[in-house]
Amino acid sequence: MAFPTTRLRRLRRTAELRNMVAETRLTPDAFVYPMFVCPGEGVRKEVRSMPGVFNLSVDEAVKEAEQVYSLGVPSVILFGLPDKKDEVATGAWAENGIVQQAARAMKREVPGLVLMGDVCLCEYMSHGHCGIVKAAPGPQSLGAAARDVVVVNGDKGKKQAIEKLANRMQPEYEIVNDASLELLARTSVSLAKAGIDIIAPSDMMDGRVAAIRKALDEAGLINTPILSYAAKFASGFYGPFREAADSAPQFGDRRSYQMDGANVREAMREIAADVEEGADMIMVKPAMPYLDVIATARERFDLPLAAYQVSGEYSMIEAAARNGWIERERVMMESLLSIRRAGASVILTYYAKEAAKLC
Ligand SMILES: [Zn+2]
Repeated sequence: MAFPTTRLRRLRRTAELRNMVAETRLTPDAFVYPMFVCPGEGVRKEVRSMPGVFNLSVDEAVKEAEQVYSLGVPSVILFGLPDKKDEVATGAWAENGIVQQAARAMKREVPGLVLMGDVCLCEYMSHGHCGIVKAAPGPQSLGAAARDVVVVNGDKGKKQAIEKLANRMQPEYEIVNDASLELLARTSVSLAKAGIDIIAPSDMMDGRVAAIRKALDEAGLINTPILSYAAKFASGFYGPFREAADSAPQFGDRRSYQMDGANVREAMREIAADVEEGADMIMVKPAMPYLDVIATARERFDLPLAAYQVSGEYSMIEAAARNGWIERERVMMESLLSIRRAGASVILTYYAKEAAKLC
């Protein structure tokens, strides 16, 4: 039946009608609130590039967790800023690591809150990469190769030739996959023992879900679920997070382990691999630039599906709202609704507390 019998505007006439026929709804119990725990006491330091988001010492983080839970948000995910970094990510798996301390305190004070623990090594490694770094046995260093460049056009020509060469050359280091698995597994067991309810590996090493599952089971932690950051893309939208978690790589980038933004079929292979290895829940990250990946994953897989509205998504909205270019609350809710509509049933978002008040 076509117009004029069909008039789609009939059901849009009032707020009540629109609400009745809404296909997608946001509820606070879909939200997970990310938190950054740092050493000290009474510390509440705002992240410059993420207004409204703080580095919190354990005592302050507990207060924040109480507030989050009282708003109906059932879960937080914890990231740690250790006081020391090294080459084996000691702070990630130490019994008295910063996240382990926070988890114990939160379990004691807010027992109902579901604690997720991000499992990665970058925040705890002096080089800022997500795995163990080894010098690659390259055939020739850039410096040596550059000496071979024939100068054809003075300094300018030489500079261009060297740049071209650098783009073609293999990096002089390697993020070692298999050796990193042991540290990730050790971290997971340590976090679960400290009270973390859901282990969430975000490193993107191959085989880490299986390694973590095996280690958890061997430690008797058979009931601890794994939420894998299964399709995590190498993204410019992570920029502000690196300040929040002090986790910027000191050299190179993460493109050799995080996914290429061009690939949705490969994302499905990543997810399938993690499911095969024993993931209980899966995640797509970032959210808004990858809504098609969320939708495709929702169709293909039956596991609970999470999406991470990352720091850059948050900070763009904050910055535009501060300039008066967009309506802050409206865009915040619309962005979350779009992620829900694409198919994510769990949303990790810095807006968890505020959005909970509005849904
Ligand atoms: Zn990492």
